[in-house]
Amino acid sequence: MEHEKTEAIVLRVVEFSETSCIVTLFSRKLGKISAIAKGARRKKNPYEGAIDLIAICRIVFLHKSSQSLDILTEAKLERRFRSASTDLDRFYAGLYLVELLNLLTDEADPHELLFDAACLAIERIDSQSSLKDALIEFEIRMLDLLGHLPMLTQCVGCGRMRRTMNRVHFGLNEGGVICPDCRPGKQNIVSLSSEGLELLLNLTDHTKIKSMKTEDYSSNHSAYPEVRRLVSKYILHLIGYPPRLQKYLGNL
Ligand SMILES: [Zn+2]
Repeated sequence: MEHEKTEAIVLRVVEFSETSCIVTLFSRKLGKISAIAKGARRKKNPYEGAIDLIAICRIVFLHKSSQSLDILTEAKLERRFRSASTDLDRFYAGLYLVELLNLLTDEADPHELLFDAACLAIERIDSQSSLKDALIEFEIRMLDLLGHLPMLTQCVGCGRMRRTMNRVHFGLNEGGVICPDCRPGKQNIVSLSSEGLELLLNLTDHTKIKSMKTEDYSSNHSAYPEVRRLVSKYILHLIGYPPRLQKYLGNL
């Protein structure tokens, strides 16, 4: 057993006994971990409010090499998710973000860049900045960092470069655009407008994300609703079922 220190985001808290909880955390150093927080349900506990959903904290835990749970020994709050009590849309978006991290990452599989992207997105969601932009940019960044970015510039079936600027077929099973020749017989196809494709391409191009002139680039784009729907469907398809929080994002 080793003591590990790292930063972490609280993804899930489940009551375990009268006094303890099991906490799922996405940590910078070790990826997702599940740890028992003994005494967390007592009024006076060693975690000082750090074990709260969507909180970012510094933790110390005993990392067990076997199958048994890690033990959380310390947690110090770095950033509380303040909108939890003031803004329902932002709270749902924050819960959705941690749900995605929980569903799409594996234990003991660290992703430092994803950790940084998630912290940044949490800050944006929990502020006055555009919720729509913060969320869709995080979703795309997450897909990219986890190797699930859809193929958009060439057909996923035959590899030929996309030529037309008309509507295109997007294959949810295949994970990208499909040319008319490869389309027959394919299931779960979504039709995407050229504007939608352009927005998706911009979103997937990191340098363009950084150079987007205004914060509200995505949400002000005419194809935003269409891209929002496609990304939701794509993520649902990837996971195999809808994330629990997806239906609460109706206003986005
Ligand atoms: Zn093709």
